[in-house]
Amino acid sequence: MNTHKRLLFAASFAAQRHTGQNRKGERGEPYINHPLEVASLIANIGGIDDAEILIAALLHDTVEDCGVSDEDIRRQFGEAVAGYVLEVTDDKSLPKAERKRLQVEHAPHLSHGAKIVKLADKISNVTDVTDSPPADWPHERRVEYIRWAESVVVGLRGVSEPLEAHFDQAVAKARIAFGS
Ligand code: ZN
Repeated sequence: MNTHKRLLFAASFAAQRHTGQNRKGERGEPYINHPLEVASLIANIGGIDDAEILIAALLHDTVEDCGVSDEDIRRQFGEAVAGYVLEVTDDKSLPKAERKRLQVEHAPHLSHGAKIVKLADKISNVTDVTDSPPADWPHERRVEYIRWAESVVVGLRGVSEPLEAHFDQAVAKARIAFGS
């Protein structure tokens, strides 16, 4: 399969697997908007055209949130894509606070490709929490989310100057919005 076909197959696979899921924000956007945005940020802001990274970006939440097996990703999209997706997948058997702590701890040790996916993921999430915060998140929780995302990104820096600058802008916008 050529690159265009693989990318479209991955986008379609992710859309099917995320069917019926919505983002947590008050706008309740279809979940698929998020992985599409993550892949687009990598390509269009990061200027990165590595197909394995872009496909991993499209699929990055399918193991964690849709019950897709890593074996399924490996069989359909190959070893490199499956590796990146697994690197950015939280262990859901752990309590939430522990998973968040581990993201900070693991970030500097991720592969180059997984760091890029995670960085774009954090840009998308910080932007969403700013523009469409979950209605049940009090102000303090929104501010705390931005702080945590910043602490994860500390460990991801050095992979893409334009993506890092874009993250910093997203955080600056969040600070203004939240008055923090
Ligand atoms: Zn994500």
